[in-house]
Amino acid sequence: MTHDTRLGFDRETLAQRVVFAPGAAASRLADELRRLGGTRVLLVAGSAEAELADRLTADLATRPGAGAGPVVVGVFDAVRPHVPVAVAEAARATAAETGAEVLLSVGGGSTTGTAKAVALTTGLPVLAVPTTYAGSEATPVWGLTEHGRKRTGVDPVVLPRTVLYDADLTATLPVGLAAASGLNALAHAVDALWAPRVDPVDTVLAGETVRVLAEGLRALVADPDGPGAPAARDRCLYGAHLSAVVFASAGSGLHHKVCHVLGGAHDLPHADTHAVVLPHVLAFNAPAAPEAARRVAEALGDRDAVAGLVALARDLGAPTALRDLRGPDGTRMREADLAPDAALVAEAAPPSNPRPVAPADAEQLLRAAWAGTDPRGDGER
Ligand code: NAD
Repeated sequence: MTHDTRLGFDRETLAQRVVFAPGAAASRLADELRRLGGTRVLLVAGSAEAELADRLTADLATRPGAGAGPVVVGVFDAVRPHVPVAVAEAARATAAETGAEVLLSVGGGSTTGTAKAVALTTGLPVLAVPTTYAGSEATPVWGLTEHGRKRTGVDPVVLPRTVLYDADLTATLPVGLAAASGLNALAHAVDALWAPRVDPVDTVLAGETVRVLAEGLRALVADPDGPGAPAARDRCLYGAHLSAVVFASAGSGLHHKVCHVLGGAHDLPHADTHAVVLPHVLAFNAPAAPEAARRVAEALGDRDAVAGLVALARDLGAPTALRDLRGPDGTRMREADLAPDAALVAEAAPPSNPRPVAPADAEQLLRAAWAGTDPRGDGER
């Protein structure tokens, strides 16, 4: 934006209660559930998140009639990445069988996404307790995967009514997963800068998101068990919240379209995919989006946005090549996948992207991300 252009935009601020309660989620949970009205609670938590969920819900009753407070009437733990339609249907059936009035999701983006899928067809309110930095909890975006394709949509009914953030619940995240998840959050902010509905408020928030996340993630990865780690996790979780607010407002840019194509087609780990792809999308768009690049560079404290992001990814030990990533069944993305994936990316590229994205451009970008080539065009990283 230059000083002589007029300033006009439409912006929607989402209605959501946000509670940051470091170390206190368990003690705040019953009151927050009560605020939502219903007492019959369906807990949605993947099997890997069960221990966190047990810790969090230990003080809630598990039998109806055991008191006036909220009661856990069922648990849905068959969470899968990218919410397959069959999983969404099973979760909806559990909600109906248990007579659930409130959905409590405790976990990463896959778990939040499963609760959202139930809310989409039932209208049940969601209280989200995130345990990664994915950010799904602060957006009205749902996603479902079927036949290798991920469909997403926006519906206010899936926006969790309340988010209870407690960074202590992220302490069990292995440091590599925390770094990748944080870079995923950072990607929301960078990608917002050229997303379809980006407005001046988003651009300010995006810069702050990148700054807070880079600071928090560097501190966390440098000393994950040190005395500064809890505060570093607070920064990371706050950055994750900010990133989701920006993403919900600005929408999906090219980076997210690339990651959705790869996630749907190959079931690659979501956060790692984001960590690998983002520097390549930034390198592709930066020459056509100098203001966005300036903002990212400034937030990263580097003269060049791409160099700053590459340095951050290196400091965090993030993966650099798609061909090194494996889906849950051990499959990898093959070189032969590049051309068909590139065709899907070119088709999905938002018209708001600062540069047109021809299939050949998309293939070049994907090839560099697949091989782990330096996004600045200097060969291997
Ligand atoms: P994830 O939810 O699949 O979690 C990754 C792994 O980490 C899982 O095995 C999980 O059990 C485990 N885990 C979660 N919290 C943990 C903790 N505290 N300690 C130890 N292990 C833990 O991955 P994710 O990156 O959190 O979320 C990715 C999903 O979220 C994708 O499907 C993505 O599309 C979606 N998402 C949606 C939106 C949206 O607005 N709808 C936004 C961001 C992400």
